[in-house]
Amino acid sequence: MWNIEYTIPTFLILLILLIYYAVRPKLKTRVNRTFSWLLAADVATMFFDYVSTIMDVYHGSYSIPALYVANTLFFVCFMLRSYLFYRMTVSVLELRFEKMKWSCGIAVGLLLLSVAIAVLSPWKQTMFSIDQEGYHSGPFYNVLYIQFLYCILLSIVLLFRFGRAMSKFDFVTVLIYNLLLLLGLVIRYLMPKVVIMNMFCLLAIFVVFLNFENPEHFIDKKTGLFSRTALETTMNELIATGGMRQMLGFVIKNYVENRELYGGRQMDAGIVSIAAYLKETFPKYTIYYLRSGQFVIGMQDGEDVEKVYEAIRDRFQNPWKAEDANLFLQVGFVTENSHTRFQHVAQFIDCLQDAFRRVDNLRKSECLVLDESRRQEWMHRLAVKRAIENAISENRVEVYLQPIVDAGTYTLVGAEALARITDTELGLIMPRDFIQIAEKNGSIITLGEQIFRKTCAFFAEYREQLGLQWINVNLSPIQCMDSDLPMQFSAIVNEYHIPPEGIHLEITEQQNVDSDSMNECIHEMRKMGFSFVLDDYGTGYSNMERIRKLPLINVKIDMSLVWEYFRTPDPMLPLCINLAQNIGASVTAEGVEERHMAEELHRQGCDYLQGYYFSPPVPMEDFVRKYRLDSGN
Ligand code: C2E
Ligand code: MG
Ligand code: MG
Repeated sequence: MWNIEYTIPTFLILLILLIYYAVRPKLKTRVNRTFSWLLAADVATMFFDYVSTIMDVYHGSYSIPALYVANTLFFVCFMLRSYLFYRMTVSVLELRFEKMKWSCGIAVGLLLLSVAIAVLSPWKQTMFSIDQEGYHSGPFYNVLYIQFLYCILLSIVLLFRFGRAMSKFDFVTVLIYNLLLLLGLVIRYLMPKVVIMNMFCLLAIFVVFLNFENPEHFIDKKTGLFSRTALETTMNELIATGGMRQMLGFVIKNYVENRELYGGRQMDAGIVSIAAYLKETFPKYTIYYLRSGQFVIGMQDGEDVEKVYEAIRDRFQNPWKAEDANLFLQVGFVTENSHTRFQHVAQFIDCLQDAFRRVDNLRKSECLVLDESRRQEWMHRLAVKRAIENAISENRVEVYLQPIVDAGTYTLVGAEALARITDTELGLIMPRDFIQIAEKNGSIITLGEQIFRKTCAFFAEYREQLGLQWINVNLSPIQCMDSDLPMQFSAIVNEYHIPPEGIHLEITEQQNVDSDSMNECIHEMRKMGFSFVLDDYGTGYSNMERIRKLPLINVKIDMSLVWEYFRTPDPMLPLCINLAQNIGASVTAEGVEERHMAEELHRQGCDYLQGYYFSPPVPMEDFVRKYRLDSGN
């Protein structure tokens, strides 16, 4: 007698899973046909298993042909399901079916053979037979086990061969569901009368569902739209297969500020209403929410991006309802299509984020096209980033020196150390291309130390020969946040036996920097003997109150202010010079490009001059050659 008490609850659970899977929105590219087929095969297997078992138990009540049909259908579904489990492994391992001709060929061959054996049973009693006494297993019954075992073992072999690149969790998941199937198969073999195999198959399907096929993985909880992971997955497949795509993205401008203004709850409610509007207005498109006010609408190539763009732009002319408030939001747009040759999804996502940041800064609802030139521009920036990282890690950042002269006599008194990176492919990279990047990723600390050390070594060797009183080194505000900086710099000047007074540290005022810890660092280093110079004075950040409190020995007037004065003389430059003198600091003018500028700046009260009129920044050897000669040595 068969024990079928497990079958009905197993069948019901499977039905619930099936309905759930069918109704949740799924990513088009991710809709895994194998999984859908597997679910269908499992339902059919369970159904015919139940029906045929009942019919076999009460065989007297049914005709022999009916019993043959029910049992044959069960065997065929069973073997098809075994095969589909194997295909599931192939699919999660992302293996190309054509590449594994042999192993797959055998799997298909075994499936066809075992199906033939089952189908021939009514005539040749191959897999089973039915007579007046009911159901009997046939001589080839074990083909059923061999076929399933082959599928499981092949899956495990493929996993160990090709699954190394997957995450550990994914790897273990595939292993677990295959082991569950193996266990179910062994139990069925040992206790064929207990109909429990289906439960193991359902467990295996659940494991696959939870980890690989769960549509929830791709849904953003707040908006019910597809998530960033979903976009990454879709793009990954489209880029890999060269599939057509058309994309329109938009970002809520000043998202962080708006969140502060309207409050987090209301802003979230606003995002939910935008999502609802998009879902309702564009039901046939795949819509993603990437967080931070960024939305992406995915379309097939050739669809009307322009119309969607206009509709959304117009909708944003009106406020969005959020709880009790009306939110007035502005948006910037980005489009992209299949013609941009992204090599992998990370490149696409980085370019997209970069484009979102840019449109955030554009004034109107402009649309930025993420085309090939933008991708190349981004690639260039990436190459620069790598070159910087290499140069810093290999201590190859060079120091160029620009002379600073006495404003009355034009004789050399000091110099400014300026960083340069030479890359074999990209050539000379200027500080404007790398200082910010180094500040962002923290490598400015190492870069700053390298520049400081090289400058100290130079100063120790040449200061007397060249008559240098001091050298200026630029200090990033990020370096000032590092509490080890004073001790580190002090140790370096001691190592080269130079007085700390010989090194002037140029600081700039910057927003977003904790001025308390910066002040603390400056005062501590001042006590150790280092001197401070205020760089880029007059560029807009300078705060009078703070300047008065800083122990500055020199103020450098920014070249933009100097040039402005020579274009249209106004009292700004004299005022700044005056202020510097009032706090007891000497004054250096930057950007002196012509002789008349030098003369006038001297008349205005500048003590020192720096600029192309005297010399651009040059490599250390050139600097030595030039000023040794100039001084007649
Ligand atoms: P800065 O400290 O204000 O340096 C002066 C900049 O003006 C230098 O640009 C210099 O080449 C340029 N300059 C000097 N005279 C003239 C002139 O007559 N005409 C024109 N058009 N330009 C002139 P550079 O070397 O490209 O450096 C740019 C900025 O990068 C520097 O501005 C400084 O803020 C930063 N920087 C350079 N080296 C370092 C470094 O080692 N550490 C840090 N933290 N920042 C650095
Ligand atoms: Mg400077
Ligand atoms: Mg400057």
